[in-house]
Amino acid sequence: MNTVECVGCGGQFPEIDGPVHRYMESSPGCWAAFGEVLAREYSDPIYFGVHRLTVDAYAVQHPGSPSRQSIRSVGVHLIRLCLFLEHGLSAENANDAMLKAAKLKHTFVWLEPPVSLGQLTVADVVKARTAQAHKSAVKTWAQSAWDAWLPHHDTIRIWLSARQGARGLWPYPFRVTPKKEGQPLLATTLRR
Ligand SMILES: [Zn+2]
Repeated sequence: MNTVECVGCGGQFPEIDGPVHRYMESSPGCWAAFGEVLAREYSDPIYFGVHRLTVDAYAVQHPGSPSRQSIRSVGVHLIRLCLFLEHGLSAENANDAMLKAAKLKHTFVWLEPPVSLGQLTVADVVKARTAQAHKSAVKTWAQSAWDAWLPHHDTIRIWLSARQGARGLWPYPFRVTPKKEGQPLLATTLRR
């Protein structure tokens, strides 16, 4: 079967006809692969620990075009990726974090997506043949997707920070390190 590049993540997927998401713009083949990955994750609790990472990675690799929904989607999923990958958010707290991130949505603006959204895509997860391979692929994919958004990491950390009125929203207290000349702005997790 011919393959075609996904307009969102840039991965290669079978050239098929089929549905796509309303604002997470993708090729039909990519959306079908995501559906297959989700079905696998819903089929067995063994995937619980990575399921939200899957959703976050897919969402930020398919930012679509500027609209209120896509701005909100990219914002909340980047925030949760940051919490997972930089602050050790647990899968148990993932839904709660999502609800809290959504409360910040009025502070979000459109973030111009990077030219490359990462080397890995959902195609690297759908081909996994064991649960272990699947979980490992999701983690690497999510890290790659988060890394691709590097130009906007500081913005995400600011959205996460207490300065934006998020105090008390997260299971961790955040502190934003004042920006020194030539250095990136960092939000650090304070140990209780
Ligand atoms: Zn895609």
